[in-house]
Amino acid sequence: MKEVILCKFGEIALKGANRKQFENLLLRAVRYRFSHFGKFKIYSTQSTIYIDPQITDVPMDILFEEAKKIYGFSVVSRCVEVEKDMEKILKVVSDLAPTYLSDAKTFKIETKRSDKSFEKNSMEISMIAGGVVLDRMPQMRVDVHKPDVTIRIEIRDFYAYVTAGHERAAGGMPIGSNGKALLLLSGGIDSPVAGCMMAKRGVITEALHFESYPYTSERAKEKVISLAKKMARFCGDFKLHVISVTEIQEALRDNCEEDYFTILLRRFMMRLAEMTAKEYDCNALVTGESLGQVASQTMKALCTTDAVVSLPVFRPCIGMDKEEIITVSRKIDTFDISILPYEDCCTVFTPKHPRTKPEIYKVEAQEALLDDYNGLLARAFATLETIEIKNEIYPK
Ligand code: ATP
Ligand code: MG
Repeated sequence: MKEVILCKFGEIALKGANRKQFENLLLRAVRYRFSHFGKFKIYSTQSTIYIDPQITDVPMDILFEEAKKIYGFSVVSRCVEVEKDMEKILKVVSDLAPTYLSDAKTFKIETKRSDKSFEKNSMEISMIAGGVVLDRMPQMRVDVHKPDVTIRIEIRDFYAYVTAGHERAAGGMPIGSNGKALLLLSGGIDSPVAGCMMAKRGVITEALHFESYPYTSERAKEKVISLAKKMARFCGDFKLHVISVTEIQEALRDNCEEDYFTILLRRFMMRLAEMTAKEYDCNALVTGESLGQVASQTMKALCTTDAVVSLPVFRPCIGMDKEEIITVSRKIDTFDISILPYEDCCTVFTPKHPRTKPEIYKVEAQEALLDDYNGLLARAFATLETIEIKNEIYPK
């Protein structure tokens, strides 16, 4: 029996004239991801991308999981492809029923027929196929409302498809359909989630991490690289830039009032992020901030940091509770790495009483205490190094 994976378009199915562009991005994403596994015929028709292995011994379980991570599809199904011949379709249904229904007590058959010239209509096909399953497994019961398993039959333009593995995919838009942004990636829970949420809307996300060596360790940086690799499984390959803010933090410590350390550092971070974004053609900044989560994420504090940049700053977690963010981070499998207890540059020289409602003029007065402000920025930017992050695909 020949197995294929069918990936059905999500929102892009609704697009008009430029739909072809979206479709090509999806094809490219699928081809790139599956090239790691061998030879496939990958093509698009009827709002679906078909992944047809041209080799034997393909790890279909792994491929199916991979297909579910590609943004732009609403549903993926792992199907058996069969000629459009009623006898042959019924034989496949009968042969597969014991596997599909091994843990089930009830089932139903659902048929979709886009080829209206097929000899039977959907209702008839479902009834006949249901009968075949009951002949083979008389202990089964049909339940059309809440079946344990739904076996689907699709009569499409060229072939028919039988499946019991029909699952929700990642949704969203194909990556590359919505520009490029720079994500400020810390080692925490929120920023990887923010990055994947933007990628889900079609944005290519490059990332920027600030380190503060030797106050932050090599292990802290390794942790961020591991997080980035997890993200790449959804976001595709991307660049991770790393900038050292050690000198800036020391200058703040030596010259400014402690209560303002965090907000001052964040303004430096935003400026450096904007410089990086401009250098690498990113059109927006993205952070993992959530309103009110910590002192630096009050509305006033956010305004104070936004004031120093002209690019738009997207904060996809802004209205989410921590629990909701954690749920997504488990889904993208970054949570376990995020909670490793390594220090972040925001946690060194942390003030005991950070300002929650900083007045811009007071923050600017603190910045004026630094006599080589532009030099600090330029020297920090000169430390930028870039790491290429690859989607390594196989789970450990
Ligand atoms: P996270 O879980 O993302 O670390 P957090 O609740 O710890 O979030 P903060 O440390 O205040 O929040 O950081 C808020 C945002 O600022 C982060 O989501 C991230 O976008 C950015 N950020 C913080 N620290 C760094 C860093 N070291 N490098 C790059 N970006 C950072
Ligand atoms: Mg953090």
